[in-house]
Amino acid sequence: MVEKKEKTSRREFLQRLTVLGTAGVVTPMVISACGGGGGEQTGEQGDTAASGVGFSCTDTSGLTEQEIQMRENAEYVDASPNPEQYCANCQLYEEPAQGEQCGGCQVIQGPIHPEGYCTLWVAQQV
Ligand code: SF4
Repeated sequence: MVEKKEKTSRREFLQRLTVLGTAGVVTPMVISACGGGGGEQTGEQGDTAASGVGFSCTDTSGLTEQEIQMRENAEYVDASPNPEQYCANCQLYEEPAQGEQCGGCQVIQGPIHPEGYCTLWVAQQV
Protein backbone atom coordinates (compact mmCIF):
# COMPACT_ATOMS: atom_id res chain seq x y z
CA MET A 1 0.00 0.00 0.00
CA VAL A 2 1.33 3.39 -0.98
CA GLU A 3 1.19 6.05 1.73
CA LYS A 4 -0.24 9.37 0.61
CA LYS A 5 2.46 12.02 0.30
CA GLU A 6 1.49 14.97 2.51
CA LYS A 7 4.75 16.79 2.91
CA THR A 8 5.84 19.37 0.42
CA SER A 9 9.05 18.46 -1.31
CA ARG A 10 11.87 20.94 -1.86
CA ARG A 11 11.03 20.94 -5.56
CA GLU A 12 7.35 21.73 -4.88
CA PHE A 13 8.33 24.51 -2.52
CA LEU A 14 10.68 26.11 -5.04
CA GLN A 15 7.99 25.84 -7.72
CA ARG A 16 5.62 27.74 -5.43
CA LEU A 17 8.18 30.49 -5.03
CA THR A 18 8.58 30.71 -8.80
CA VAL A 19 4.82 30.97 -9.25
CA LEU A 20 4.88 34.02 -7.03
CA GLY A 21 7.07 35.69 -9.60
CA THR A 22 9.37 37.01 -6.94
CA ALA A 23 12.08 34.38 -6.90
CA GLY A 24 14.69 37.09 -7.32
CA VAL A 25 13.44 38.65 -4.12
CA VAL A 26 12.73 35.45 -2.24
CA THR A 27 16.10 33.78 -2.69
CA PRO A 28 18.05 36.40 -0.76
CA MET A 29 15.28 36.43 1.83
CA VAL A 30 15.56 32.68 2.33
CA ILE A 31 19.31 32.91 2.65
CA SER A 32 19.17 35.81 5.09
CA ALA A 33 16.40 34.13 7.05
CA CYS A 34 18.83 31.52 8.35
CA GLY A 35 19.81 33.98 11.04
CA GLY A 36 16.23 34.70 12.04
CA GLY A 37 13.39 36.71 10.57
CA GLY A 38 11.76 38.33 13.55
CA GLY A 39 13.53 41.64 13.40
CA GLU A 40 10.49 43.64 12.42
CA GLN A 41 7.97 41.89 14.60
CA THR A 42 6.01 44.35 16.59
CA GLY A 43 2.93 42.36 17.44
CA GLU A 44 0.62 45.29 16.92
CA GLN A 45 -2.25 44.85 19.36
CA GLY A 46 -4.87 47.16 17.89
CA ASP A 47 -6.72 44.91 15.44
CA THR A 48 -7.78 42.00 17.59
CA ALA A 49 -11.47 42.11 16.70
CA ALA A 50 -10.73 42.03 13.00
CA SER A 51 -8.32 39.12 13.20
CA GLY A 52 -10.37 36.99 15.60
CA VAL A 53 -7.19 35.32 16.81
CA GLY A 54 -6.47 37.32 19.95
CA PHE A 55 -3.80 39.63 18.62
CA SER A 56 -2.62 40.96 15.30
CA CYS A 57 0.61 40.41 13.40
CA THR A 58 -0.15 42.69 10.48
CA ASP A 59 2.15 45.65 11.16
CA THR A 60 4.23 45.97 8.01
CA SER A 61 5.51 49.46 8.76
CA GLY A 62 9.16 48.35 8.87
CA LEU A 63 9.06 46.43 5.60
CA THR A 64 10.12 47.38 2.10
CA GLU A 65 7.58 47.52 -0.71
CA GLN A 66 9.00 44.26 -2.06
CA GLU A 67 8.60 42.54 1.30
CA ILE A 68 5.01 43.78 1.60
CA GLN A 69 4.34 42.60 -1.96
CA MET A 70 5.74 39.19 -1.04
CA ARG A 71 3.31 38.95 1.91
CA GLU A 72 0.46 39.89 -0.37
CA ASN A 73 1.50 37.51 -3.14
CA ALA A 74 1.67 34.67 -0.64
CA GLU A 75 -1.75 35.73 0.70
CA TYR A 76 -0.58 35.87 4.31
CA VAL A 77 -3.42 36.09 6.88
CA ASP A 78 -3.41 36.07 10.70
CA ALA A 79 -6.11 33.39 10.87
CA SER A 80 -5.59 30.25 8.83
CA PRO A 81 -8.59 29.12 6.78
CA ASN A 82 -7.35 25.55 7.18
CA PRO A 83 -7.35 24.00 10.67
CA GLU A 84 -4.68 21.52 9.57
CA GLN A 85 -2.25 24.09 8.19
CA TYR A 86 -1.13 27.14 10.17
CA CYS A 87 2.14 28.97 10.72
CA ALA A 88 3.04 27.31 14.03
CA ASN A 89 3.08 23.91 12.31
CA CYS A 90 4.85 25.17 9.18
CA GLN A 91 8.48 24.20 8.59
CA LEU A 92 9.32 27.84 7.87
CA TYR A 93 7.90 29.34 11.08
CA GLU A 94 10.19 30.94 13.65
CA GLU A 95 9.09 31.11 17.28
CA PRO A 96 8.46 34.57 18.79
CA ALA A 97 11.25 36.26 20.65
CA GLN A 98 10.86 36.24 24.42
CA GLY A 99 8.04 38.57 25.43
CA GLU A 100 6.62 38.75 21.88
CA GLN A 101 3.46 37.16 20.54
CA CYS A 102 4.22 37.28 16.83
CA GLY A 103 6.82 34.97 15.42
CA GLY A 104 8.72 35.18 12.17
CA CYS A 105 9.07 33.29 8.94
CA GLN A 106 12.04 32.21 6.86
CA VAL A 107 10.48 33.55 3.64
CA ILE A 108 7.76 36.04 4.60
CA GLN A 109 9.18 39.09 6.32
CA GLY A 110 7.45 40.89 9.17
CA PRO A 111 5.45 39.65 12.15
CA ILE A 112 3.81 36.25 11.74
CA HIS A 113 0.87 35.00 13.79
CA PRO A 114 1.24 31.40 15.03
CA GLU A 115 -2.33 30.76 13.84
CA GLY A 116 -1.68 32.48 10.52
CA TYR A 117 -1.26 31.00 7.08
CA CYS A 118 0.06 31.69 3.61
CA THR A 119 0.17 29.74 0.37
CA LEU A 120 3.83 28.80 0.97
CA TRP A 121 2.95 26.61 3.96
CA VAL A 122 5.28 23.59 4.25
CA ALA A 123 4.71 20.60 6.53
CA GLN A 124 7.27 20.28 9.29
CA GLN A 125 9.97 17.73 8.58
CA VAL A 126 10.16 15.00 11.19
FE1 SF4 B 1 5.73 31.52 6.75
FE2 SF4 B 1 3.59 31.00 5.25
FE3 SF4 B 1 4.73 29.07 6.73
FE4 SF4 B 1 3.32 31.03 7.91
S1 SF4 B 1 2.52 29.45 6.50
S2 SF4 B 1 5.35 30.25 8.57
S3 SF4 B 1 3.86 32.78 6.61
S4 SF4 B 1 5.64 30.12 4.98
